[in-house]
Formats: sequence, C-alpha cells, structure tokens
Amino acid sequence: MQSDNPHKHDSRPEFWQLSMRCCQLAGSVDVAFFLIFLTLGSPVLAWINVISVAMYVYAYRAFNQRRNRFAVMLIRIEVLVHAGLGTVLVGWESGFHYFLLMFIPALFVSMRARGAWILAACLWAYYVGLDVLMWFVQPLQPISSNALLAVHLFNLTVVFFMFSYLALFYVITVTRAHKSLARMATTDSLTGLFNRRHMIALTEKELARHNRKPINLTLMLMDIDHFKQINDEYGHDIGDRVLDAVSHLLKCSMREQDFIGRWGGEEFLAILPETDVDQAVAGAERIRQAVQAQAIESDGKKIGVTLSIGITQYRAEEALSNAIARADHALYKGKSAGRNRVELALSEPGRTR
Ligand code: GH3
Ligand code: MG
Ligand code: MG
Repeated sequence: MQSDNPHKHDSRPEFWQLSMRCCQLAGSVDVAFFLIFLTLGSPVLAWINVISVAMYVYAYRAFNQRRNRFAVMLIRIEVLVHAGLGTVLVGWESGFHYFLLMFIPALFVSMRARGAWILAACLWAYYVGLDVLMWFVQPLQPISSNALLAVHLFNLTVVFFMFSYLALFYVITVTRAHKSLARMATTDSLTGLFNRRHMIALTEKELARHNRKPINLTLMLMDIDHFKQINDEYGHDIGDRVLDAVSHLLKCSMREQDFIGRWGGEEFLAILPETDVDQAVAGAERIRQAVQAQAIESDGKKIGVTLSIGITQYRAEEALSNAIARADHALYKGKSAGRNRVELALSEPGRTR
C-alpha cells in the first residue's frame, strides 16, 4: 500500500505534498465542471473536463510513484490548455484565465529565480495573448449570459480559495521552518538541553533581572566523573547514551523556573532562581544520588555513572564568568576529594563550609 506522503524523505517534501493536494483539489473542481456543463447542455465542454480529471488522476499516481517532474509537467499542461480552451470556447468573461495566475507563486517556489522569471514572462505573453485574441474573436461555444455569470463566479471563487489555501500553507511551512531553526540554534542535538550559547543568553537575562531586583540565584555546575573511561571501556556510542540518559534525568529534576544546558562535553550548567545555597545543596544531593542509582546497561552490564557538582550563589553586579569560575572551583574541589560529591564554593554568604 502507498503511504499518505511518499515524499516525506525528499528535500522538498512540503512542495510535493502541496502539489498532491492541488491535484486532488483541481481534479474535484473539474468533476464539478463536468456536471455543471452537462447541466448547461454543453457536452463538448463537459468532456474536456473528463480529460482534465483523467490527467489529474494520472499526475496523482505519478506523484505516488515519485515521478514528480512528470506529474508537475502534466499539471502544467492541463492548466495551460484548460485555461486557454475554456477561454476560447466560452469567452474571456468565463474567468478560466484566472487559473493561469496560480502559476506565478508556483513557478517561483519550484525553480531558481532566473528560470522562474523567464517562465513568468512566457506566462504573461500567453495571458495577454489570450486577452487580446478574445477582443477580436467570438467564443466558439457560447453559453447563455446567466450560465456565463455562474461559471465566472464559480471560477473566481475557486481561484480565491486556492490562493488562500496556498498562502496559508506557505505561512504554516515558514513558521514551522522558523521554529525548527530556532530550536536547532538553541538546543544541543544530542541531549536536547539548551546549548552553551543559549545558556549564556538566558543567564545574562536572568542576571540583569537579579541586578534590578536581587533574589537568591544559585548556579550549579555538574560534570560526569571519569567519563573518558566510560567511552574507552564501552565505546563512544554508549558514551552518548550515558550523556543522553543523564541529561534526561537532570532535565526532569529541574523546577519550572530553573534552566539547564550542556555547558561542555560532559559538563552541565543549571541556573536556579529564587533558590538559596541550602536548597541548592539539597537538590544537588538528590540529583547526585539519582544519577548514581540510574540503571544504564550495556550488554547486560550496569554502567556505573556518577556526577560531581559545584555550587555557588550569584553575587549582585558580578560578571557571569566570575560566578562560573567559583562554581568550577567548587566542582574541582569535589573531583579532588574523590568525585561523586556536591561541593559549595568557598566563603558563600551565610555558609562556613
Ligand atoms: P573527570 O572525572 O575528571 O571529569 O574525568 P573525565 O574523564 O570525565 O574528564 P575528561 O575531561 O578527561 O574527559 C571527558 C571526555 O568526554 C573526553 C571526551 O572524549 C568525552 N566527550 C566529550 N563530548 C562527548 C560526546 O558528545 N560524546 C561522547 N561519547 N564523549 C564525549
Ligand atoms: Mg568529567
Ligand atoms: Mg569535564
């Protein structure tokens, strides 16, 4: 069975998806035209729509078979011929020519600017040519003026709807791309945590707020112990899995107002607003124990993972780098004292440790 969207792995899945939707939509419109012209007693016009529907069905099948270029070519021929024939047979007032205008955004989306400009100029010549022709030539299959008005309004409505649909589709696509870019620019791809650059930006913002209205703000620097050994013993992929698992646990341990990021290879920084050092030490201790208890296995063997944590409280007006250096120093103390420890920076206000 064919999947709903056989182009989801292509470089431009949205474009092909949209083309397939347009195929369905245009095919349905032509079925409606078939019925309208049969009702109006114009069998020639009705049968032209049968050919059009067949072309859309064929193009849709071609899209499903990934023959995208062929499918797009079929659609282009159908629209060009249908708009031209409809105009020549029923008259300019039928509004069949409006469908040609749909080509303009489609051309610029589907090809390089130079090619699109050239084809847009050809389209303009075709459009103007049809217009001028109909000034001098009578319609070959005229229909009553009421029927002409009905066809005109129907075409106008369909073109309005299709343009609105296209516009909405592109807005959704661009918004989605924008969000995905923003996510890529701010998060670390392996762990899903904020990356270092975004952490600095967020922290600077938090410090500015702190400097306007001081609150307890604590920094926690965490580093996986002997991570190099884990890589050496189990391989880099398992090392990545450990990083991911620890990151997940850290993320789950944070409260709503905290934020955490990957500060370096196997090092993490957490910013804890409205938290004094005692609360931070208690939280860090819980994290340390949770990491130690976490079951990460490779080939049935449990991998022992521990974390060392350095904590410091931010001091009003100091630079971020100062506070980080203090947390780093506390972390280093924990490493020297045997690892798998929570350490507080020296001379924290209100602490003697
Ligand atoms: P310590 O307890 O003193 O922190 O020792 P350590 O081995 O954890 O620290 P060290 O700085 O000696 O080694 C860190 C290792 O982390 C070296 C590097 O190859 C590895 N590393 C850094 N980023 C990644 C990563 O994205 N994936 C994996 N698998 N390893 C990484
Ligand atoms: Mg380490
Ligand atoms: Mg390290």
